[in-house]
Amino acid sequence: MTIRTTKKSPNKNTGRNSWKPDIIVCHISEGYYESGCDWLCNPTSQASTHYFVGKKGEVSQLVDLKDTAWGNGTTTTAGDSRYYGNSTIQAVRQRKTSANYYTISIEHEGFYKDSKGSLTEAQLSATVELIQHIIKEVKNIFGIDIPVDRQHIVGHCDIAPKWKPNCPGQNFPFDEIIKRVKGNSVTAVYKISETNLTAMVNASVINSPDYWRSVTSIQYLDTLLSNAAKDGVLDKRINNGITDIDQAYSVLIDAGIINTADYWKSLVKSGEVKYLKDLIIGIANKCRIVLEKIVHAESQGEGLEGQEYVANVILNRCNSKSFPNGIYNVVFAANHFSPVTDGSYVKAVPSTSVKSAVSNVLGGKDNSKGALYFCSKATAGKWHEKALTFLFEHKNHRFYK
Ligand SMILES: [Zn+2]
Repeated sequence: MTIRTTKKSPNKNTGRNSWKPDIIVCHISEGYYESGCDWLCNPTSQASTHYFVGKKGEVSQLVDLKDTAWGNGTTTTAGDSRYYGNSTIQAVRQRKTSANYYTISIEHEGFYKDSKGSLTEAQLSATVELIQHIIKEVKNIFGIDIPVDRQHIVGHCDIAPKWKPNCPGQNFPFDEIIKRVKGNSVTAVYKISETNLTAMVNASVINSPDYWRSVTSIQYLDTLLSNAAKDGVLDKRINNGITDIDQAYSVLIDAGIINTADYWKSLVKSGEVKYLKDLIIGIANKCRIVLEKIVHAESQGEGLEGQEYVANVILNRCNSKSFPNGIYNVVFAANHFSPVTDGSYVKAVPSTSVKSAVSNVLGGKDNSKGALYFCSKATAGKWHEKALTFLFEHKNHRFYK
């Protein structure tokens, strides 16, 4: 496959608005290869694609992978036929922004009325090679592994079913493409690096690395461990107390260790690697992010000292028989922390100060006098004053046990 790069489209945004692309979207062009490339390079069309594949297997690149092409725009207006909430792809519904930012488009020469999206053999093999090329390039440029599955190799109709129900058409050979793209890697051996194994042992996620040395069938396991092992993500002093795999996925997403759970869900479900579920839960249990997010949501304006007190309260609760086991269970106990119910926990992006506070407290700093409760001065009511023992006040918070 040779990629022609002489035709460049002006119809694009430079960069990707901080997103990294992980979904490849296939289209049918409703036009011919040469004139289609020309049209998508014409400013009048206000549309573009990263790649265009002709019926003879010709391939053109019109927009750089680092840039945003205009082919899959979704809107945030409910009721609009391009509304992101209509998508059949979970990531599109979750990300709530224009799908252009995190997708890569491939146009295929053809007309829906003639082919219903089927490809010529030359076009099919060029598409397979092109997708393998894209996966390698995205790994090099963005450090992301695009999973080879139907959540990540999709049609325009999956992104915007009401807007483009027939793009690329019901005969488009998604399954064959996925089979062939995977083809070369079926017998490949994916080893976990010793560095990552050591990091997992040090974080008390695994006891003996021997079992994991023998697991060589999971393409992205080493990437998962490497993301988890990054500085400050895993901490053996942390115990989130998570036992549920879905809670584990959401913590891993919050921590930036995985983008979506889909790839891991199907592997865990297959049961192919017996202890994979335990490993994922084990990593989630050592993630600082839960403590950092709740401390941020509760005390972003309280300064380092005030943030340390709040972190101490959470850890004091973990050590108290009157509260659940583990940070996650303490934080998510019904009606205990208002940020969990009012949505500010979900939105919290821990500040540098919060990260330092959590780090200090995990390192043993504790001036909390055993505090198990705190409230803002404004909400300190009779219950707190009567039922609890007042300990001290810091800025806007009053602390009790
Ligand atoms: Zn389309």
